[in-house]
Amino acid sequence: MITAQIQTAAYLFASILFILSLGGLSSQESAKRGVLYGIIGMAIAILSTVLGDGAEGHVYILIAIAIASLIGIIVARKVEMTSMPQLVAILHSFVGLAAVLVGFGSYLDPETHLLIGAEHTIHLVEVFIGVFIGAITFTGSIVAWGKLDGKIRSKPLAYKGRHVVNIILVIITIALGVLFAQALGVEGIMYLYIMTAIASFIGVMLVMAIGGADMPVVVSMLNSYSGWAAAAAGFMLGNDLLIVTGALVGSSGAILSIIMCEAMNRSFLSVIFGGFGDTPQGEAKAIEGEVTATTHEELAELLKEAKSVVIVPGYGMAVAKAQYPVKELVDLLQKNGTKVQFGIHPVAGRLPGHMNVLLAEANVSYDIVMEMEEVNHDLPETDVVMVIGANDIVNPGAEEDETSPIYGMPVIQVWNAKSVIVMKRSMAVGYAGVQNPLFYKENTDMLYGDAKDSVDKINMALKA
Ligand code: NDP
Repeated sequence: MITAQIQTAAYLFASILFILSLGGLSSQESAKRGVLYGIIGMAIAILSTVLGDGAEGHVYILIAIAIASLIGIIVARKVEMTSMPQLVAILHSFVGLAAVLVGFGSYLDPETHLLIGAEHTIHLVEVFIGVFIGAITFTGSIVAWGKLDGKIRSKPLAYKGRHVVNIILVIITIALGVLFAQALGVEGIMYLYIMTAIASFIGVMLVMAIGGADMPVVVSMLNSYSGWAAAAAGFMLGNDLLIVTGALVGSSGAILSIIMCEAMNRSFLSVIFGGFGDTPQGEAKAIEGEVTATTHEELAELLKEAKSVVIVPGYGMAVAKAQYPVKELVDLLQKNGTKVQFGIHPVAGRLPGHMNVLLAEANVSYDIVMEMEEVNHDLPETDVVMVIGANDIVNPGAEEDETSPIYGMPVIQVWNAKSVIVMKRSMAVGYAGVQNPLFYKENTDMLYGDAKDSVDKINMALKA
């Protein structure tokens, strides 16, 4: 019951709110405002769509939204912060699947058969590209979910000649596209089916070929693909807002992927072609040195004496939910006159910005949270580094061992500090599955145990 003009105005307003939302999300201080803009924009978008043309039939949409919202609320409440990346990956797969379904629906829609000439061809091209991107996003995201959830091995599965196979598949897809565009009526559906199968296979192989420490880039890349899939669905449905929103998600995801690639020292192009997770050849370098362990009391004494402390959190801090006692530890140390900083690696944890979110949740002040480059600069003058539940992001092998799968990835050079304490439960490897020579260094001591328990005990010892 709203006119097309009002709907267009509402869409424009929602688009502006989405852009403001993205702008807000670029810094911690304005992030809450950014989220609020996003919520308002989305509410306006849904309302103006439901109340628009053909509103009478939209009762079904409202029912679907109600059911989906309920499922969304239950899932979001149940999901642990550590399982968030898997949830994000599976949600990306839904966007891909939606684009595929919209593509098939739009192709079979009798109304679109009334289109003639160039308009008809453009519509077919939209359908073909939309389904192609959607299918890649769908299967790629499912594989990413499996890898993040540990259901599929994170190790890259790369077979020789896969680039050639991928190129051949893309050429076949283009040929199918030409046949599809020339087919009359709905005769082209067969080409669409075959292409969907090929695109689904490409999606699986692209993500299977990447793994280990390179997964974060895949996650942000699939985020970008899901945006383009939504934009493609927008073209097929003739919905401007979906086109704008999809383009925003697609381009911001692509920018994030580029930033992540730079942080990981990887080439963006090879990510797109799913080729940079290649396992390096040669024997892994033997690790020299002995592992030594310390106790909570000894560490508390060390911290009391220290003038400067750097805390490097990782995935284990998230698992243990140790951010709250860590904040208490920071307060205790600062009271003692110690300079405390956090060193945040761009891929620490399992989500871009994972550690920043946890620290903000525990009310850690932003101005002591440093990025990798800044903190690397300060480490040689640091007395004690506490590595809390981190592993890959502090692995010196990334700099020293050319045979390491994470070779070339910049890491936090904690070993340059006077003393390093690594707090984790065992000598187990991290996500990338590689041994860490840091644990064997002379200035490194291990403090075994759950990160939260350990920090609690250190806090008690400091208070005593
Ligand atoms: P890692 O996975 O390398 O290491 C985490 C360590 O935490 C483990 O070795 C584990 O050792 C320890 N740990 C687990 N649970 C606990 C606990 N309760 N208490 C104490 N320690 C615990 O994590 P990092 O943060 O160092 O590196 C992130 C890795 O994840 C990188 O390889 C990155 O590429 C990858 N990744 C990152 C994504 C992102 O977007 N940030 C997305 C996908 C992957 P132990 O079992 O001995 O306790």
